[in-house]
Amino acid sequence: MSLSQLKGRGFGQGRRNQGQGRGQGGGAGPGGNCVCPACGHKIPHRPGIPCNQISCPQCGAPMIRE
Ligand SMILES: [Zn+2]
Repeated sequence: MSLSQLKGRGFGQGRRNQGQGRGQGGGAGPGGNCVCPACGHKIPHRPGIPCNQISCPQCGAPMIRE
């Protein structure tokens, strides 16, 4: 039989599940908003783009994660 194959699969899945758990438990999660600390304008956060790299469309200030 192929015990080594089964062992390898189980190990791989376990590591992947741990990674997902940490990502979702981090608080804000993949959604949420970016908010301007200067004028309070909010825009939907885009996954992969940090809020502090986005300028507020209202006043041009760097935005922060809500
Ligand atoms: Zn602003």
